Amino acid sequence: MEEETTTAMCPRAPDQLSVERVAQAHLPTEIGDFQIAAYRSLNSDETFVVLFKGELQADLPTLVRIHSQCLTGDVFGSTKCDCGRQLHRAMEMIEEEGRGAIVYQQQEGRGIGIVNKIRAYALQDEGADTVEANERLGLAVDLREYRQCAEILFDLGLCQVRVLSNNPLKLRALEEAGLKIVERVSIEVEPTEPAEGYLRTKKEKMGHLLEFNI
Ligand SMILES: [Zn+2]
Repeated sequence: MEEETTTAMCPRAPDQLSVERVAQAHLPTEIGDFQIAAYRSLNSDETFVVLFKGELQADLPTLVRIHSQCLTGDVFGSTKCDCGRQLHRAMEMIEEEGRGAIVYQQQEGRGIGIVNKIRAYALQDEGADTVEANERLGLAVDLREYRQCAEILFDLGLCQVRVLSNNPLKLRALEEAGLKIVERVSIEVEPTEPAEGYLRTKKEKMGHLLEFNI
């Protein structure tokens, strides 16, 4: 019944999903109370976590974020990037709104893995920027796949989304996966000094939409 509604409201949603929800629980946090669910991919070893709250309906434009895991930023509070602060800002915005979802994609360092990420940081210590460092390690700049993240949002019953992202590639991928993007909601945190070079590279080389001047 619920699926029929989603399909009717969301004509471009896939008939069959390649992810499945395998666990769900309540998660109180410093920012607010959320539900947390685990998904697994049906065609790879990948797992996903989604943090969400409130009434999620296909016809209600809803705040969402696809957050790519950044161990250094999310857990250790690294100032080389703004990931941790973006994640917490997104949680705060969803808490203020009373509903929304954050898909936490466990692909460290834009898909290169933590070992290569630390190798890339070592190259950056010698002066390379984030794109050059990945190129010198023979790694693609961005290996992430967003289709299954979109599928998780469909599974939660969503269709019309207000996306918390500065990354046009992410927006395009969600749209191509069949979600209706009602709005891009910019998520900006004031850069700390070590993050400035990284953010400038994201803006100049990766097309990120950042409004402040860096
Ligand atoms: Zn980061």
